[in-house]
Amino acid sequence: MNSKIWLSPPHIGNKEIAYVNKAFKSNWMTTSGENVDHFETLIESYLEDKVSVTALNSGTSAIHLALIKLGVKPNDEVLCQSLTFCGSANPIAYLGANPVFIDSEKETLNMCPEFLEKAILEGIKKNKKPKAIIVVHLYGMPAKIDAIKNLSLHYNIPLIEDAAEALGSTYKSEKCGTFGDYAIFSFNGNKIITTTGGGALISKSQKEKDEIIHLASQAKEDALHYQHTKIGYNYRMSNVLAGIGCAQIKLLETRLKQLKKNYNFYDALFEKSKNFTLFKAPGIDFSSNYWLNIVFINEQVNFTVTDVIVHLQTLNIEAKPLWKPMHLQPVFKNAKYFGGSVSENLFNAGLCLPSGSNLSKDDKNRISSALNEFI
Ligand SMILES: *Cc1c(COP(=O)(O)O)cnc(C)c1O
Repeated sequence: MNSKIWLSPPHIGNKEIAYVNKAFKSNWMTTSGENVDHFETLIESYLEDKVSVTALNSGTSAIHLALIKLGVKPNDEVLCQSLTFCGSANPIAYLGANPVFIDSEKETLNMCPEFLEKAILEGIKKNKKPKAIIVVHLYGMPAKIDAIKNLSLHYNIPLIEDAAEALGSTYKSEKCGTFGDYAIFSFNGNKIITTTGGGALISKSQKEKDEIIHLASQAKEDALHYQHTKIGYNYRMSNVLAGIGCAQIKLLETRLKQLKKNYNFYDALFEKSKNFTLFKAPGIDFSSNYWLNIVFINEQVNFTVTDVIVHLQTLNIEAKPLWKPMHLQPVFKNAKYFGGSVSENLFNAGLCLPSGSNLSKDDKNRISSALNEFI
């Protein structure tokens, strides 16, 4: 049996271990230390020092803290893109608040500004103005940020940018992660760079960063004894894992080039196919990191997404459907939803193909011959 081709496996370089050893040698085997500070500084400088970065133990906890900072309380409503991973939406439920899911538009797969405005107006009409908007740059493709940000400013509803999949993506040459009142990244094993598990919360000032660190460290106060006036969380990143991140982020530009090559490979593969359409940026304003490549099955083909995935599986090649929209998930069956069937149709027709930055020439050959009979 051929070795498995994964959808988006970790891609570790040769400098990670040196940073990890530094943590061992200095005995900073905890949730603070030189690697954590250095990792944050490296991300800040990647984001052109426009924002402050707090390293956390996951992207999901970053969203949780952003919602807490925005004062989200039980029974509040939070607007959230429906087509996404559950990590975008679960923190709303942690706070006893209610998610209101918004459909996607077809061009970027992300939150549709028109349905977003409908949801905002409906909320205001019912005297239940939403407390926050969570927009996602799915698979690395920037959302229609101008339109969404305008609505956020016009109606004075804070914006959280879920850039878990979009480190390295840009919209109108500005980096994803710098648009929202808060933004988050994930460094889970399947993301563009990894710390095995981890995340970051991006905020607008050092003062906010200090408050986030406080909340993420059990809200311990400055006193000789253990003193708490707030509920805190144990959400900081480990100094050992931050060491992996220090080396990984320095590889980002190289990884982006490798990911672009995967996109070019799929572009050539599907170019002449009547059965598939590769998902592409809707214009020059949208620059994806190509975290995952997506293809849609055209109408009137005599096979299904499942047929393709199962066939690839038999050849030890991993492929997956798109994220299943949150409004169709049993766990959120009582949540409000604004939209039509765009995200549902995308889910039914799309599949994610292996897109790791370490995809080899051999892997690509295996993928093209495996897909040949469907193309
Ligand atoms: C991975 C991911 C998250 C959650 O990040 P974790 O680090 O796994 O908690 C949130 N949103 C999106 C869109 C993701 O892909």
